[in-house]
Amino acid sequence: MTKYDVIITGAGLAGLECAAVLSSEGQKVLILEQGAVSGGFFQPFKRRGVKIDSSVHYAGSLDKGQLLHTAFSYMGVIDDLELVRLNPGSFDVIFTGDETYNLPIGHENFVKVLSERFPEESGGIRAYSDELKRTGSLSIQTIRSGGGFSPEGIDSISSGATDTIERFTSNPVLRKVLSGNSIIYGGVKDITPFYVHAISTNSYIESSYRFYGGADSLTNALEKRVLENGGEILFSSSVKTILTESGEVRGVETENGEKFLSKWVISTVHPAHTLEMLEIDSGIKNSYRERVSALRNSCGLFCLYLLMKPGSFPYRNENYHILGDKNVMVSFQPPADKSEYADVVTVICQMDFAEVERWSSTTTGRRGEEYSEFKESVSEELLEIAESRLPGLKGSVLAKYSATPLTFRDYVRTPQGSAYGIMKNFNMPLSTFIPVKTRVKNLLLSGQSINVHGVMGVTVTSLLTCCEIIGPQYLSEKMKI
Ligand SMILES: Cc1cc2nc3c(=O)[nH]c(=O)nc-3n(C[C@H](O)[C@H](O)[C@H](O)COP(=O)(O)OP(=O)(O)OC[C@H]3O[C@@H](n4cnc5c(N)ncnc54)[C@H](O)[C@@H]3O)c2cc1C
Repeated sequence: MTKYDVIITGAGLAGLECAAVLSSEGQKVLILEQGAVSGGFFQPFKRRGVKIDSSVHYAGSLDKGQLLHTAFSYMGVIDDLELVRLNPGSFDVIFTGDETYNLPIGHENFVKVLSERFPEESGGIRAYSDELKRTGSLSIQTIRSGGGFSPEGIDSISSGATDTIERFTSNPVLRKVLSGNSIIYGGVKDITPFYVHAISTNSYIESSYRFYGGADSLTNALEKRVLENGGEILFSSSVKTILTESGEVRGVETENGEKFLSKWVISTVHPAHTLEMLEIDSGIKNSYRERVSALRNSCGLFCLYLLMKPGSFPYRNENYHILGDKNVMVSFQPPADKSEYADVVTVICQMDFAEVERWSSTTTGRRGEEYSEFKESVSEELLEIAESRLPGLKGSVLAKYSATPLTFRDYVRTPQGSAYGIMKNFNMPLSTFIPVKTRVKNLLLSGQSINVHGVMGVTVTSLLTCCEIIGPQYLSEKMKI
């Protein structure tokens, strides 16, 4: 039987990134993915011949010299990506009350533009921007040291996003504007740490991009690199058990009974699922299993995908955050034909699992009439909200499709359809930020539940996981960070 250096469970962004790094560093890597294709949340779907991104809308820090550009260059995928830079003057547009606020790319511009709108708050806006930059740079420091959080990092994960923003300004409208994109990091008042807000927001202010040809161009490029480096990926291979002996990993066993041996195992699936895969004598304490499985998950999302009539509604190179009773985000997919007209628009809002729980025993395509009616009514509500800020959108829609937390649960096995994995909580930072290293020798964790979610958070975590195998000094020298 072949013995691999590293077996990775899950071919989402995290699994593919770990595999791309480790296979390029000479490790013999195998990824086991339960689904039929790679990408996890990056998987697109097709309707009427049009490719629709299911999840990822934009990513930050992709200008040359910024962290994700550096990481994707090291992983050998940057040249495979056709990136669409969002409007320099407004990557995000926040609608609150009767006002519209444009958030521009670049910290200097960000401070300038917001200070023009809130002149009395300019000192606080500058201090907020400096704090975002400082917190954003903690990621690079952590990769360099390869360890857990520095004292500064601990400080940042132990402070609330809302409280920290409120320290910089007492203006209620500015407070709303600064947290206006909270849907993208699953922000919850009195729970979300400032660190989560800052890693995501700083990255988008540094630079914001969409992926032309679909977000899966990133995961496809990573998959290609893994295969070129001699790595292997097996699909429809759901990992059931992580095999251990005397407190050390030996490999994994899949649901169809196949065994694969390895020196290391990296699990990128939800930590509660990883713990279920470990046998009782693996060395993990019951109290730890109970603690992790009791952790709350981040929100789910409802996504309304609009297929637009050709040549009917202009493509908008910015995201809209419409704040109200229901906060809604509207994002445009770069048109496949590169024309000035939109082909796909996505409208999303947070959705608690409780709203779809009564259909939880059903599977995709077989959830019944009531579920379809429920989806239709949420879709209509979102469409009205979007239309209120983007007049003419509704009349330009050719067809509507939608996804609920149940859809994501069933495609990528994310518990309760959670969009971003375990909810990080500044009141209990040390239990909600889970280290990549486990008590089982050579079992490592990665993926969005471990550190921060999203393209930035997951990539930093993947690099931290790889540091455990190839060493932080080696990795940071190779990445030149
Ligand atoms: C609607 C939506 C919009 C988003 N928008 C953005 C955005 O604009 N920008 C951004 O940066 N982030 C965004 N995100 C977040 C981002 O998509 C995720 O943080 C990221 O893709 C998570 O990657 P992952 O590899 O950790 O997890 P996943 O993508 O979930 O990958 C895990 C993989 O493991 C597989 N798996 C599960 N169980 C098993 C098993 N037992 N055996 C084998 N394989 C298994 C799954 O099938 C999956 O492929 C969005 C998320 C959602 C849901």
